[in-house]
Amino acid sequence: MRNFQMAGGLSRRGLIVTAGAGLVAAPSAFAAQAHKPAARAAAPAGHTAAGAPPSPEQAMTRLMAGNGRYVAAKATHPNGDAARRRLVAAGQTPFATILACADSRVAPELIFDQGLGDLFVVRVAGNVVDDAILASIEYSVIHLGSNLVMALGHERCGAVKATADALDGHGSPEDADTKIGALAALIAPAVRAVPAGTVDRVDAAVSLNAAQAAAEIFAGSRPLRARVLAGQLKIVAARYDLDDGKVSPAKGRSDIV
Ligand SMILES: [Zn+2]
Repeated sequence: MRNFQMAGGLSRRGLIVTAGAGLVAAPSAFAAQAHKPAARAAAPAGHTAAGAPPSPEQAMTRLMAGNGRYVAAKATHPNGDAARRRLVAAGQTPFATILACADSRVAPELIFDQGLGDLFVVRVAGNVVDDAILASIEYSVIHLGSNLVMALGHERCGAVKATADALDGHGSPEDADTKIGALAALIAPAVRAVPAGTVDRVDAAVSLNAAQAAAEIFAGSRPLRARVLAGQLKIVAARYDLDDGKVSPAKGRSDIV
């Protein structure tokens, strides 16, 4: 699972990412004990009781355990009280970094049942990657010690749908003179990569777009790439289901290493 495959398919800012049949369906990081209790940290913020940052696998387990609680309507809403606020006021050590869509229905702290100081969250419509987004993610890993980065798309994403519509020539006239076209340009390669005849084109593009974001984080940052290849960092792509609340591997490529 270490080889980062690069082949024909998506192309954005010079990055070529495998798309389609050759994709790795590699949900190892999602071998999620979704209903196991989360490893509750007694140490500052996201660190383990021993004071060390959790491994990528430990972070993934904790994240998916939180999603399992949320899905099962057993959320504990941890780390949200005044004591926690005081603790993390002195410094943050989030255990995971989430690149999520700005969609109001996809709030990472809620859907992963986490609290203050647990997640470093970067949100932008369509969960795309540009330099500012990538810099934010780099900061969370290099300076704050996060060892897991998740690019999280979601069902019925309006940004992906709007991009598909625009590519079909049905763009909204209200978007004229806005920056929405620039955003859509970042999503367009994922929409174009959906194989012809796919029943749910938008949903397929959601997964490909998340995978593309994960791949761009890997390819666009030498320090993060080095950490991935050394086994110190995991970058994964996932899809959030608006209906049942589940986070699952993005179809196609879900796990970069
Ligand atoms: Zn969205």
